Amino acid sequence: MTLLVLCDHDRGVISDSAFEALTFARSIAGSENLSLQAVLIGQGSEQAAESVISFGVETVNVASHEFLIDYGPEAWGETLTQIANETSAKIIVSCGTDRGNEVLAHVAARLEMPFLANCRKIQIENDSSTATRIQWGGSLLEDVTSNAGVQIFSVEHHSTEPEADASSGSGSIVEFKPDLDSALTRTLVVDRVVRTHGITLTTAPIVVGGGRGVGSAEGFAPLEELAEEIGGVVGCSRAVTNNGWRPHSDQVGQTGNRIAPEIYIASGISGAIQHWVGAMAAKNILAINTDPEANMVTKAGYAVLGDLHEVIPAITAEVRSRRNA
Ligand SMILES: Cc1cc2nc3c(=O)[nH]c(=O)nc-3n(C[C@H](O)[C@H](O)[C@H](O)COP(=O)(O)OP(=O)(O)OC[C@H]3O[C@@H](n4cnc5c(N)ncnc54)[C@H](O)[C@@H]3O)c2cc1C
Repeated sequence: MTLLVLCDHDRGVISDSAFEALTFARSIAGSENLSLQAVLIGQGSEQAAESVISFGVETVNVASHEFLIDYGPEAWGETLTQIANETSAKIIVSCGTDRGNEVLAHVAARLEMPFLANCRKIQIENDSSTATRIQWGGSLLEDVTSNAGVQIFSVEHHSTEPEADASSGSGSIVEFKPDLDSALTRTLVVDRVVRTHGITLTTAPIVVGGGRGVGSAEGFAPLEELAEEIGGVVGCSRAVTNNGWRPHSDQVGQTGNRIAPEIYIASGISGAIQHWVGAMAAKNILAINTDPEANMVTKAGYAVLGDLHEVIPAITAEVRSRRNA
């Protein structure tokens, strides 16, 4: 019997979220005496397969089919279901990314099993589990129990530090050819935009965030400049997206992206709870704000009290001058 972990990747470049899910699942597989197996679906899976073996995986199931070249939730869900049936899966896990949750929802429907999304902790005993999962982006923790023949759950994104397993042996890579009907291709990704340098808001090591204090869409130019200079990307608050200054894909928070950079530079952002839950996994926060009482200032490890329109260009200039020194 197996514990399957769906590993997300982008044309062979494995996502950190997959390593988080593998790390989380490894101890459960050990305590439940299950074979830890990874599932990679879609173009580039073969290239990604080697990189998951060091996480203690016994078998990597690499699924390929003409309908699996790009992402499609129904085709991916059916493929994972077929692998689950073939390997007698007892537990099926992914990271709680949008894609992970979407695929597992399809798997749960196909297997007629419950699905626990975004779990921070999980305790499994025989056919029942007790989990703590997050709601509303992490502002509420909920304890739930589930009795099901197959336990299906996703792991809260950024709640587990990925850690390879030094004692892992040599796992095997097995090709899987699913039986897929063209009706499963109703929803397919048909176009992809690659972000500059391949960095996205959720994977960037540095995020330069701007809030209402930035004042306008044009006001983001200095933030873009700083981000470019230090290898980061720009994020924003909902006040900004509501004003139409930035696209929703740049929003950090409960109804936006959850980020976990090494440093989050939050400028002109008050730090409302709905924003904070998306930013609190940042390792370091530098707040730039005119208000010393702003939540973001009181919660941040570092703060500069001042006008961001002066502070941001000053930081950029300082970085440049030190680099050229
Ligand atoms: C259901 C729900 C979901 C939500 N989801 C999200 C979400 O996902 N993400 C999110 O961000 N919000 C979300 N919100 C909105 C959230 O409650 C706040 O309204 C929002 O985060 C405020 O954005 P802000 O900090 O940019 O603006 P404000 O709260 O207006 O803060 C602006 C800050 O800029 C500072 N400032 C002003 N001028 C300057 C200057 N020149 N230099 C430096 N500092 C300056 C001010 O002192 C202030 O602290 C949600 C709300 C609800 C109800």
